[in-house]
Amino acid sequence: MNNLTASEVAGFGVGALLLCATISAPKIDSFISASQRSSLGMCKRCGGLRMIACSGCKGTGLVKEGGALSFNFIDDMYESLGGDSKVKTIRCSKCQARGRFCCPDCSKVQSI
Ligand SMILES: [Zn+2]
Ligand SMILES: [Zn+2]
Repeated sequence: MNNLTASEVAGFGVGALLLCATISAPKIDSFISASQRSSLGMCKRCGGLRMIACSGCKGTGLVKEGGALSFNFIDDMYESLGGDSKVKTIRCSKCQARGRFCCPDCSKVQSI
């Protein structure tokens, strides 16, 4: 039998609760700041730009013909040396050559 009294056990319980609260506080804080950010109109996805860059063309609106299936490293080197590359650049079909999309999160907000 240990010598803990009921009030000591209760004290340990409160201490443990306080410890848990202290540990989880930063997490709760970051959660609140994230929801605050969205309530302030700042998008978590695009940071308020209302645009996200196209992954197909890296935001340039142009892709090399053949896309990711062809290996264009040597052509890139040749082109950067001032050569006349055989690889044609075409409009990115993924983003209609705009290089970016409207942020889906922001367009959701706008439609309300
Ligand atoms: Zn694109
Ligand atoms: Zn957004």
